[in-house]
Amino acid sequence: MSEKRSTLDKVMEVSLRRGLVFPTAEIYGGFAGVYDFGPIGSFLRENLINFWLNYFVKTEVDPPVYLVSGGTVLPFDVLKASGHVDHFVDPVVECPECKTEFRADHVIEDATGQFVEGLDEQELTRIIRENNIRCPNCDSELADVTIFNLMLATKVGGGKGKVAFLRPETAQIMFLDFKRTATSMRAKLPFGIAQVGSSYRNEISPRKGLIRLREFEQMEIEMFVDPVTLNDQPNFAEIEKVKIRLLTREGQDKEPQEIIEITADEAVKQNILPNQYFAYYLAKETVWYTRCGIPRDKFRFRHMKPEETPHYSGGNWDLEIELPRGEKAQIVEIVGNAYRQAYDLGNHAKHSGEDLSIDQDGEKLIAHVVEPSFGVDRSIHCILEHCFREKGIDRDWIWFKFPNVIAPISVEIFPLMRKDGMPETAKQIYTTLKKAGFNAIYDQAGSIGRRYARADEIGCPYCCTIDYTTLDDNTVTIRDRDTMKQVRVPTIELIDVLRQLLEEKIEFEEAGQPV
Ligand code: AMP
Repeated sequence: MSEKRSTLDKVMEVSLRRGLVFPTAEIYGGFAGVYDFGPIGSFLRENLINFWLNYFVKTEVDPPVYLVSGGTVLPFDVLKASGHVDHFVDPVVECPECKTEFRADHVIEDATGQFVEGLDEQELTRIIRENNIRCPNCDSELADVTIFNLMLATKVGGGKGKVAFLRPETAQIMFLDFKRTATSMRAKLPFGIAQVGSSYRNEISPRKGLIRLREFEQMEIEMFVDPVTLNDQPNFAEIEKVKIRLLTREGQDKEPQEIIEITADEAVKQNILPNQYFAYYLAKETVWYTRCGIPRDKFRFRHMKPEETPHYSGGNWDLEIELPRGEKAQIVEIVGNAYRQAYDLGNHAKHSGEDLSIDQDGEKLIAHVVEPSFGVDRSIHCILEHCFREKGIDRDWIWFKFPNVIAPISVEIFPLMRKDGMPETAKQIYTTLKKAGFNAIYDQAGSIGRRYARADEIGCPYCCTIDYTTLDDNTVTIRDRDTMKQVRVPTIELIDVLRQLLEEKIEFEEAGQPV
């Protein structure tokens, strides 16, 4: 029975049961499109964000990337200037019978396989009528398609108040803070501004899991560059030989679609990607997501078709991940990469009346922008599905093969027996590890086998057992999640050995005496 369920169902079940992800307001029946991270999921999220900050922000020297943390409620004028008030819309179609609302383009794509991005409401209605597409829920006739703005509006201030919006992306803050960041940091181009924070979109049909939420978190960078230096990324040599998987526009039109593998360097030389800054991020994303546990052959960068691309864009390539879904794989966009040229700063300068140009060696210019925009929740969803391991293949329980760098719990501590001083010693070790900064769990309930299985279920890479030998010679065992092998190490060296293991500086076999 359980084997028939999809990976998604199994992942959602274990997420709920083991404190990874909970529906918000569950005791009131939940709230579609909003999720909470539980005690285990919060550490996964925190580790993922820290890993991202380290890799994309804090260790970047030239050009530097500055971190900001901005307001999440924005005034009407900002979102009018950015184009969100007029253009941030989806087509919606309602069923007059069962009152369910659907994304009109999704309903058409599901029914006909036809790609209809960019069509207006009259054209979409016509396609629905011509193809006799009916409500996917109750098979009734659908109403006409209407256009729906995705922003969540609110009012601020007393009386009638003023219209404001919960921000639909974190990016606007970086444009609004551009001038202050440049002057306060005495920054010259190129430099980046990054942010991690919540965004809100009134999605018409949020789905199961963390893919389409109404409140979600983004990690975004706006890299500001003098346009004449776009092919002079100072760090390019570091990543130029990284092979990236690209689904070009021509590749999308082939049957089956054709993905090409090409080095970052070649992709720029052959004019497939718009510039070095852009290719730099695609290469780094390739390395980073592989290190997050997504197999390289399960993701690719897709060149957006002309009808999906904003008029001001110099190139948009989405990082898409394939999720296991039986016969037909589901493809999910998890990073939007855009070369936005001078659009954002130019537009805000025009609407605000502020001069947003920058003085670059005596010349005033509007910086061009390269933007990678990552979704935290979608990334976590894809990592959960890809790191999930079925029961019955190499062990009798499900488990997660999280890479150490993001594993929510790094080590679990078990006394072998609940007697003869083992719990006391184990608690002491547990306390020492917690104070040293490890995400650790102490567990003394049930057989040791069950405790290993529970640790595997939340993807904990190492378990440490305190047994009779510990009481004799002050050594403990460490068990490796992936191989289920064990080594014995002196308690006094435990912190050091665990750090080296977690940072993958030593192989497990080198960590101690085999047991
Ligand atoms: P976009 O601005 O639409 O290109 O979105 C950038 C990234 O934000 C996407 O690649 C997703 O990872 C994430 N994202 C956008 N919309 C949602 C949503 N409704 N729920 C969860 N993540 C989202």
